[in-house]
Formats: sequence, structure tokens, C-alpha cells
Amino acid sequence: MEIIQTVQQLQQLQNRFKKLNIGFVPTMGALHDGHISLIKQAREQNDVVVVSIFVNPTQFLEGEDLETYPKKMEADSKICELCNVDYLFAPEISTMYSGDEVLIKAPNIRGYTLEGVKRPGHFDGMLQIVLKLLNLVQPTNAYFGKKDAQQLSLIKLMVDNFFLNVNIVECEIVREEDGLAMSSRNVYLSKDERIDALSISKSLKYAAKQIGSGELDCEVLINSMREIMNKIDIEYVAITNRKFEKIEKIELGNSMILVAAQVGTTRLIDNIWI
Ligand code: AMP
Repeated sequence: MEIIQTVQQLQQLQNRFKKLNIGFVPTMGALHDGHISLIKQAREQNDVVVVSIFVNPTQFLEGEDLETYPKKMEADSKICELCNVDYLFAPEISTMYSGDEVLIKAPNIRGYTLEGVKRPGHFDGMLQIVLKLLNLVQPTNAYFGKKDAQQLSLIKLMVDNFFLNVNIVECEIVREEDGLAMSSRNVYLSKDERIDALSISKSLKYAAKQIGSGELDCEVLINSMREIMNKIDIEYVAITNRKFEKIEKIELGNSMILVAAQVGTTRLIDNIWI
């Protein structure tokens, strides 16, 4: 595996791999099994695999955890090596941003509901960096997790809107054995908080079970989920279609249940696709 840090090094790859499939997995590092599942899928489906690690400052809002976001470059690079990654792109901030830039703005509806309410501007910064990375790596396939469902949906929309020549691969959520969705931020949780955090995945599982038994009324489902999560500070529980529009009745094959909650000082998100 080669670690590369400059745009020039990355661009040279384009010439070298003109006829090969490139699989790309963008991450912010502190890699866990969720990231690894994306990397493995990329490895299986492409000739060349590029992983990026970049904690993107423009997607963090004032007062968020940019400074303390877990950084584990050495361990991450070992993980990538073990997963047979070909290139690890880990640029400096100054390589990716030059100051006063052309900006990308997330769309008014999908960019400013749910995650976009508490984190206005987060998706603008996310799309900005993803567009830059896709342009630099020029992958055949780029891999994103359903864990960040709204992010995934916005990236797909950007690819459509800007006619980007890349296939976006949607990857399943990877969970701890007890159901907690894997996240780099889980390391912030204390023992007790971790137990409380489990109520998020439990409530999603319960809702899925209720739907399986024929309960399709979103208000009923949301109320029972809120009861299960009564120990944590729920930011939202929402049931939407795949365009992130709120719905009243579950449409099988076109619905999502999404949760964001604060557990102690840690903000967690999770979802299931129905
Ligand atoms: P991050 O490093 O948090 O920006 O995540 C990088 C990529 O990994 C994103 O596409 C995430 O959606 C994906 N990802 C993060 N956690 C998980 C998980 N538990 N399961 C599947 N994909 C994940």
C-alpha cells in the first residue's frame, strides 16, 4: 500500500490506471468494522482500491467535535494495509482547501431537514469535500454507508445533478453484536451511556417488528420508539420516504425510520430502511 498526500500523486494514478476499475472509500478515519465492510466490498468489486482519510473541517459546525474527533492514523493505515488497499490518500487541509472558494449548497428540502436542522451547513461542507474527492480520484465505484442515510441520498443527488461519472454503491449498516450501529464517535460513550445508547437500535428493531405484524401508522410507531428511548435525549425520530419527505403510513420498500439522539455529550444517529 502506498500512502499519498498530494493532488499530483493522486492525479498520476489516473494515467496509470486508465483501463482499470477504481473503487473509492472516503472516510474521516478512526476506522472500525463499518468502514472495513465498505473497503472489503470495494476490494471485491474493483481492480484498484483507494481509501481517503480526511477530517473535513467545513462539515463541522462551530462548537462541534472537530478538534477532538478521534485521529488514529497509524492504526488506520495498518487496517488499510490488512484490507489490501492500494492507495491511502491522507491530505493536509491546505491541500484540499485554498481559502475563498466556489461553494456547494445542499438543496433546500433534503439538505435542511432532520440532520440539516441541527447541523445547518453540515451537508454543504460534506458535498464540497465529496465533490473534490470524486474529481481527484475519479473512481468507477464509490462506497458510502446507509448509516449516514441523508448524506448518501444527497451524494446520489449531487452525482445526478452534476452528471458525475461515478457509480455510488450503498452499503449496509454494520452493528456491534448488541445492535449499536458502529461509529467513530462511539469511543466517546461511557459504560453507562453505551448501555443507554442501545435503546436507539432496540427501538428501530421494535418498530421493524411492529411493521412486520402489520402496524403501518407512523405516529403509533414513533410513539412506541420514543417510549423505548425514554432515558436519552431524542433529537428526532422521523419516518420518511427515500426522498426524506415525512410520511404518515409506512410504504413498504420506500420508507426509512431515522433517529438522532444525544447520549451524554455524544450525538448518535441510526436508521433502518423498510
Ligand atoms: P465517516 O468516517 O464517519 O465519514 O464514514 C465514512 C463512511 O463509512 C461513510 O460512507 C459512512 O456512512 C460509512 N459508515 C460509517 N459507519 C458505518 C457503519 N456502522 N456501517 C456502514 N457504514 C458506515
